[in-house]
Amino acid sequence: MAKIIAVANQKGGVGKTTTSINLAASMAATRRRVLLIDLDPQGNSTMGSGVDKYQVSHTAYDLLVDEVPASEVIQTETSGKYHLIAANGDVTAAEIKLMEVFAREIRLRTALEAVRDQYDYIFIDCPPSLNLLTVNALAAADAVVIPMQCEYYALEGLTALMDTIEKLARLVNPKLAIEGILRTMYDPRNRLANDVSDQLKNHFGDKVYRTVIPRNVRLAEAPSFGAPAMYYDKSSAGAKAYLALAGEMLRRSESAQITALETE
Ligand code: ADP
Ligand code: MG
Repeated sequence: MAKIIAVANQKGGVGKTTTSINLAASMAATRRRVLLIDLDPQGNSTMGSGVDKYQVSHTAYDLLVDEVPASEVIQTETSGKYHLIAANGDVTAAEIKLMEVFAREIRLRTALEAVRDQYDYIFIDCPPSLNLLTVNALAAADAVVIPMQCEYYALEGLTALMDTIEKLARLVNPKLAIEGILRTMYDPRNRLANDVSDQLKNHFGDKVYRTVIPRNVRLAEAPSFGAPAMYYDKSSAGAKAYLALAGEMLRRSESAQITALETE
């Protein structure tokens, strides 16, 4: 049964899409069965997975609004050995249409039930806002990964996001957990970044991934080649960092399982 992870932060440009694509590819490279869901109407995860958002026959819109079965919406051909539910501008309309439908917050969760046992990990790339699409992602997810840049206002945004996650969890998804906070586009020569990073660790402890994603031009270039960084330049620092992150996530979930067994 897949673990469903939402990659969320209401701020734009913090690395949600880069993380979604490269983590999905890295997990798939460890032979896990992976589905990536693009919920951002910009369709960047779609294009970055080598799928043309202007040519797709189905998107998350069909899944959420028209209740087309997930099996029909999933694209199995991507550049990253994972499956994809695509997004494009149509998904903007989904956000509006969803307002009118029954059980609008749990559409995604319901839609994924039928395919959940076919995957080990399902990642959801969220739009840069706390709209109904993000609410659907958080309602469907077991856990949230929060990518963030270590800059001055980042902690403020993070507190707001944590509050929202908690409120939402109370309403529609009591089991939702913070999987981890990921430092992205990190430049260790920047003193402010180091300060913010220290504050993060003080405040959130183990929730902060040890793996740090460095600022790396290969990560920024790869999407224009329609591929995850590991298939564009596998020796790049960016590709290696996301492989390390996948390893850290797997180790964490394994040790959590062992702890659960020990306490049974
Ligand atoms: P979001 O999805 O949160 O809006 P993106 O993943 O699209 O953020 O990243 C924003 C921009 O920063 C993109 O142009 C992306 O290529 C670039 N970028 C993301 N992560 C890195 C990184 N670690 N190093 C260099 N550029 C990055
Ligand atoms: Mg994005």
